[in-house]
Order: sequence, then structure tokens, then C-alpha cells
Amino acid sequence: MGNTHLSTFVYIVVIPGVITGIAIAYIGGRFELTSLQRLITVFPLFFTIMTVWVFGMAGLAHAFGMVHAKVRPMPRCWHCGKNLRSRHAMQCFECGADWHDPRQMLE
Ligand SMILES: [Zn+2]
Repeated sequence: MGNTHLSTFVYIVVIPGVITGIAIAYIGGRFELTSLQRLITVFPLFFTIMTVWVFGMAGLAHAFGMVHAKVRPMPRCWHCGKNLRSRHAMQCFECGADWHDPRQMLE
């Protein structure tokens, strides 16, 4: 088996589970549900809340990434002008320019 990630478990199970518990407590009190009715309601409600939570956060992360790419764009290659793979890249995978050795840049 691979590594288990506690943060992934918290993100996918614990946070939506707590939200589900709060929602069930409210709905159960509001509509005076029996414990069996609350139990039956938990499963579809949990999967709905989990799906909205996970895809909603993924959408927020995507939107954040789009804004971040505009605010702080990737550095460009000094030779061909294409985007570099990382902010600390010392070579360009598009044109092959390499500036690990600063003396090369003088050529
Ligand atoms: Zn380049």
C-alpha cells in the first residue's frame, strides 16, 4: 500500500462529516425527525456535501491559480521568450538554452 495521508482523510471525510453532523442536527430538530429518519438522511446528505465541498474547493483552487498566473506570471526564457517550467529553472526545455553556468549567458 502507498502512504496514507491524514490531511486527505480530514479533507474528504472529517470536514464534510462535521458539516453533515451540524446539518443533520439542524434538520432533525427543525422537522422533528426520529433517530432512524436522521440515520437514513445522513448517507445521501454526506455524499452530497462531500461532493460539493471537494469540487467547490477544486474550483476555488483553479480560480486562484488563474488569478495567480495573471498576477505573477512564469518567467520567460531569455533566449526564445517561451515560459519556463518553474520559477527557478536554469534551462529552457523549448530551445535548450542552459544558464546553470552564468558564463554561458555571455555567449
Ligand atoms: Zn528558450
